[in-house]
Amino acid sequence: MIIVMSPTASPADLDTVVAKIRDAGLTEHISRGSERTIIGAIGDERKLSEQTFEQMTGVERAIHIVKPYKLVAREGHPAGSIIDIRGIKLGGSEIQVIAGPCSVETQEQMKLAATGVAAAGCRMMRGGAFKPRTSPYAFQGLGVQGLEFFQDAAREHDMPIVTELMDVRMLNTFLEHDVDVIQIGARNMQNFDLLKEVGRVNKPVILKRGLSATISEWLMAAEYIAAGGNNNIILCERGIRTFETAYRNVLDVTAIPVLKKETHLPVLVDPSHAGGKAWMVPALSRAAIAAGADGLLVEMHPNPCEAWCDADQALTPQELNDLMDSLRLIAQAVGRSL
Ligand code: PEP
Ligand code: MN
Repeated sequence: MIIVMSPTASPADLDTVVAKIRDAGLTEHISRGSERTIIGAIGDERKLSEQTFEQMTGVERAIHIVKPYKLVAREGHPAGSIIDIRGIKLGGSEIQVIAGPCSVETQEQMKLAATGVAAAGCRMMRGGAFKPRTSPYAFQGLGVQGLEFFQDAAREHDMPIVTELMDVRMLNTFLEHDVDVIQIGARNMQNFDLLKEVGRVNKPVILKRGLSATISEWLMAAEYIAAGGNNNIILCERGIRTFETAYRNVLDVTAIPVLKKETHLPVLVDPSHAGGKAWMVPALSRAAIAAGADGLLVEMHPNPCEAWCDADQALTPQELNDLMDSLRLIAQAVGRSL
């Protein structure tokens, strides 16, 4: 951290700042200019807060020089992380498309969905048993029975399952049901207690971006999981809130190269919750892969018109199949395979 003293700072003000730096276990490096004195705090500056110094007399400004996140940062971990999901690699040269319905509805629906996902050539399946709904009167998910329907259907095709964990009290149930990938939804991106708990288990976690979260906030949320010892983290851009009302959310394609530069974690894109309409999904998916995403999380329903949740944005099995075909060429163009 660099602390810039004001031109009127007294020697006593300087001593107080130096004492504060030493209290935190860091050392000071003082540089006296013609107008101002600048103090460098040397050591793990993540322990220091800018506000602490900025409210001290004689201090004009305090500026962090290192990133607030460490474990998820690409600096110090130049190679991209590859997450192993029951033998399937996410983050390597192969693009992974995870598809399935928004929510688990019935045993029959999940069987048909699993058949469609596998037939399209996807290797992993999504589906929510616990749903974060805006209205308390909307379908909330089948709960534990949903996990059972989901596992039964996906296991027939040997596909790992991705499903959302909303409540920390359900974590053991998820482990007992052998959920392969825990999804933390947009609305829970900053549920820090939930992040700490999934940080303690050894399961891959998909961390979706909060509705209005900055990239820095998102990476700090990922840092919570990593700080608990779980490095199997996958980020998922799912669209952000802006002033635009013509579609559900704005797919932040710009975030993809930024994340690739800032972090070693794999990046997925969810085109379904971004656009909110099935017809937008192919274009957004192609943009995502072209921009460097490691995979997609896509909603597909055996019969979208009948879907209990997010019917507008679900692809049909045939549309998923066509999407996979159209993505192969884009993947090749960016040196990946699908
Ligand atoms: C979902 O994937 O079903 C979901 C609810 O997504 P998000 O958390 O991104 O809204
Ligand atoms: Mn959905």
